Amino acid sequence: DVNSSSNFIKHIVKKDLAEGTYNHVVTRFPPEPNGYLHIGHAKSIVLNFELADEFDGTTNLRFDDTNPLKEDQEYIDAIKEDIAWLGYEWENLCYASNYFEEMYEQAKKLIRQDDAYVDDLNQDEIRNMRGTFEEPGQESPHRNRSVEENLKLFEEMKDGKYGNGEKVLRAKIDMASPNINMRDPVMYRISHATHHHTGDTWCIYPMYTYAHPMEDVIEGVTHSICTLEFQDQRPFYDWVVAHADHPAKPKQIEFARLNLTNTVMSKRKLKQLVDESYVDGWDDPRMPTISGLRRRGFTPESIKQFCREIGVAKADNLVDFRMLEHFVREDLKMDAPRTMSVLKPLKVVITNYPEGQVEWLDADVNPENPEMGTRKIPFSREIYIEQEDFMEDPPKKYFRLFPGNEVRLKHAYFIKCNDFVKDDDGNVVELHCTYDPETKSGSGFEGRKVKGTLHFVEATKAVPAEFRLYDSLIDDEKSGDDFLEAVNPDSLEVTHGFVEENMKHVFSQDKFQFFRHGYFNVDSKDSRKDHLVFNRIVSLKSSFKL
Ligand code: ATP
Ligand code: MG
Ligand code: MG
Repeated sequence: DVNSSSNFIKHIVKKDLAEGTYNHVVTRFPPEPNGYLHIGHAKSIVLNFELADEFDGTTNLRFDDTNPLKEDQEYIDAIKEDIAWLGYEWENLCYASNYFEEMYEQAKKLIRQDDAYVDDLNQDEIRNMRGTFEEPGQESPHRNRSVEENLKLFEEMKDGKYGNGEKVLRAKIDMASPNINMRDPVMYRISHATHHHTGDTWCIYPMYTYAHPMEDVIEGVTHSICTLEFQDQRPFYDWVVAHADHPAKPKQIEFARLNLTNTVMSKRKLKQLVDESYVDGWDDPRMPTISGLRRRGFTPESIKQFCREIGVAKADNLVDFRMLEHFVREDLKMDAPRTMSVLKPLKVVITNYPEGQVEWLDADVNPENPEMGTRKIPFSREIYIEQEDFMEDPPKKYFRLFPGNEVRLKHAYFIKCNDFVKDDDGNVVELHCTYDPETKSGSGFEGRKVKGTLHFVEATKAVPAEFRLYDSLIDDEKSGDDFLEAVNPDSLEVTHGFVEENMKHVFSQDKFQFFRHGYFNVDSKDSRKDHLVFNRIVSLKSSFKL
């Protein structure tokens, strides 16, 4: 919880303000626009926005768009939409690429101070000469070029005189540093690629490790919160901040990234699932993306509450996906109307009910929230129940319908099964039941008790609907060398059935609790007036305990 003692970052901020290290708080959420946001990003979004908010500070949305090859406007638009949907307002909308000129000038200043040099070694040579944890690195033969030569070469790099990989700009720090990241890290590379934002203006691009502290400095960020893998980069971050010609002195703070059971979270892997058609796009309801969770039916509040509860820690952890499900149940419990749907229908004829007659029964919209009132549901001689609610030859303790047994129909009457009809393949296709008019729901009937309560949908007014039932896309039990081996082939089940007559007018993204089946959301892509599609958000119960 960002409001609890488990958030160590909050304590750092408090201390910084108390000691006057900073007199205000500016955070940023810095996605690279190379994919859609996922639930892990939500953790960072909630952390950055709510932390700043708590101290009357501000948060920038910054596109960390320093890599022209993988980035795209589509991702920028999707990221903005997702953050707004979560309910956060950024102070400034920033693009790292807007700072290319300033970063370039700053790099030239470093050259003039003899803090940076142009190197002709290629990537492999640089890596091989960097040394190991035990052994110091070797200096490049180009390390001692004069300032004048370095300035000239760097300008030529910028002017397009060299091909990709021919030269780089490196910080001149210490090839014997115990931290390998400080052994003259690369600051600029050549990439003759069209950038989605700056077009062909640049053919040199700053490396992330140089760009990121510069972006924070330029925006006046105070607390630059990132994930643990950047811990080893912190000395270089501090080096860039210290050398930058700027009053702002941001500090980097690392926290553990979110990992969820049965979920892959890297954008590279998620993109592969999309590109190779394992899913129906980034917003497939099985995806852990914000847009996928939205389409599945998760609410902003459920995602934010989840992110607050998991807390912020310094050690890697794995969170049970069912915890996220817990929060959407909690959020929908009071607001989602209850309704009945039959996912796999079996027709029932009530042989002693008058033909052609329809009666309208009262049903509460949400027993946990009486203010939501009541609805009318039809009842007649023909209804649908679930196929799984009848067995010809049931095991012990089966309290649903079987020949000779009586059950309660929710909001209606007791019915008793007398007979059933099979098709040529031996499947039961119709039940013949009788109802007892005395047992009407709400009548106070006490004459006898039944053990099972079934839901139903009246047949003549039933609205056909498609239901999409989900299981995990990834199965942690099935790990292999390639994560694709762990893709669950049964992550989607589609059924065709019926919903209540009063569901004719539902809108995209409306959410309901289907009696006994769980919470469902009207699909935003495929549901139409004449073909309703409902996505199961989550079943009603889980063995998971918070
Ligand atoms: P990925 O590996 O999924 O591509 P990334 O870290 O490269 O993730 P960015 O676009 O750079 O993605 O992330 C923007 C912000 O979100 C960063 O500050 C990053 O630390 C944070 N973030 C990304 N993934 C997670 C996660 N699983 N848990 C918490 N924060 C995350
Ligand atoms: Mg990143
Ligand atoms: Mg990445």
